[in-house]
Amino acid sequence: RVFSDLNIDKDIQENLIKCGYSEPTPIQKQGVPVMLEGRQLLACAPTGSGKTAAFLVPIIQHLNGPQKQGFRALILCPTRELASQTQRECVKLSEGRGFKIHIISKIKKALTQYGSKSNKKYDILITTPNRLCFLLNQEPPAIDLSSIQWLVIDEADKLFEDGSRSFRDQLQQILKACDNSDRKIAMFSATHTPVVAKWCVHNMVGLVRVTV
Ligand code: AMP
Repeated sequence: RVFSDLNIDKDIQENLIKCGYSEPTPIQKQGVPVMLEGRQLLACAPTGSGKTAAFLVPIIQHLNGPQKQGFRALILCPTRELASQTQRECVKLSEGRGFKIHIISKIKKALTQYGSKSNKKYDILITTPNRLCFLLNQEPPAIDLSSIQWLVIDEADKLFEDGSRSFRDQLQQILKACDNSDRKIAMFSATHTPVVAKWCVHNMVGLVRVTV
């Protein structure tokens, strides 16, 4: 299968080719159609498998250009480095669509940047749970996630690791802030992790599992 067999929009196909990707990797072949159908996904795909493009392509296609609604996609990464890499790939794959793709960098600036309901200029947010929860913990919350349509949790096994409840508590807080009834989740994990699978079964209706 090639990219054109996956119902990917022409402009995104061209961006993939510009990145030097001539054909989809196995996780892209299996994961992209699931998310394009609007179904929630639990993907087990190691780093290096092309997982980042596998979730970015359907999100870019679904969001369909800037609409001044505020953040519509949220990508949670375990580290700032991974968040930066994901942002770079998102910029390339969405070229021509005019999205405002944002990373929370300076916390002081961030405290006043996204909170106001009238500030709707952003589209895609890529961040770590700690930074996001710092903003959500302000009174009133310094970020508005009520327009989020897709939540991606990348390297979920890392985020859930260590058995502590802290990430699970953060995730509950984040989900509560994404109080949009149509909100969907895509969970990507490098390894099969029972705690991740269990969380997905409890929190993701109609979940589709893909393993490569
Ligand atoms: P990831 O699993 O997202 O960390 O991706 C690993 C590497 O594969 C990255 O450097 C991507 O640029 C690259 N990549 C992603 N998709 C493809 C593809 N379809 N063909 C070739 N390389 C790809």
